[in-house]
Amino acid sequence: MLADVQSDLFSLCDYLMARGHGASIRHIRLVHDPLWDAENASNSRAFCYVKDEGEPTVYYAAAFTSLPQNARVGILLHEVVHLGKGWIGNPEHEADVDAWILAYVPDSDYHYKDCIYSFNGQARVARNIQHVSQEFLTDIGAA
Ligand SMILES: [Zn+2]
Repeated sequence: MLADVQSDLFSLCDYLMARGHGASIRHIRLVHDPLWDAENASNSRAFCYVKDEGEPTVYYAAAFTSLPQNARVGILLHEVVHLGKGWIGNPEHEADVDAWILAYVPDSDYHYKDCIYSFNGQARVARNIQHVSQEFLTDIGAA
């Protein structure tokens, strides 16, 4: 549900800001992009992307809301760092984002693993999706 995802995003940003990781993540918007639903239909790993044209925004496919919370928050953590650091639009940034998380948010237990979610009533596997630990969800007040 969207309310859950919005709540995850607030909890995550509050946690990061309380540790000095940037006021620029305070007003990140969360917007459903119907075009990204089509992208997700053909690519099981396509859940979110970011843009910052004055308003830092995470766009998501509807399937994102049905992911397990560990995967949702793992992906949000990745996207929030893209926006917070301004690392957007260059494939080189993917490694920069992940390295930053490993260095500065080690308590997230950030890692990649396969994720199974429900898609049109069928179980579908997304390979190598960002995850955080259950303990981290508790730490940020999301669990
Ligand atoms: Zn990325």
